Amino acid sequence: MSGRRRKSITNTNKGSSAIRNNNLDEGVTTFGLWLNAEDKKSLTTPIMMKEFAEGRRVVLQDNILQKEVIVSIVEGIPFCNECRSNDCAHVGFAICAEQLTNKSKIE
Ligand SMILES: [Zn+2]
Repeated sequence: MSGRRRKSITNTNKGSSAIRNNNLDEGVTTFGLWLNAEDKKSLTTPIMMKEFAEGRRVVLQDNILQKEVIVSIVEGIPFCNECRSNDCAHVGFAICAEQLTNKSKIE
């Protein structure tokens, strides 16, 4: 946690591996990356899960924004406190996380 890094938010380079569409689809893709990552705390995954309180909230670490993002789940519907949206990558990620835990419970 040393030093400050400046990141340009506008990334128009389409060749980049970290394009930010910031929609549900991107969250789903990102979740897949995280799930398959050997190191779940690796900074190479754009988003990783920090905390999961089922049916209440999901705390994510956004490695592109370099900050913690909280997705609240209100009556089963996730809402991102960072983007003030229910259609962003964080919400997509949270939905996948919920589905995964539901699945593993059934089995
Ligand atoms: Zn978001």
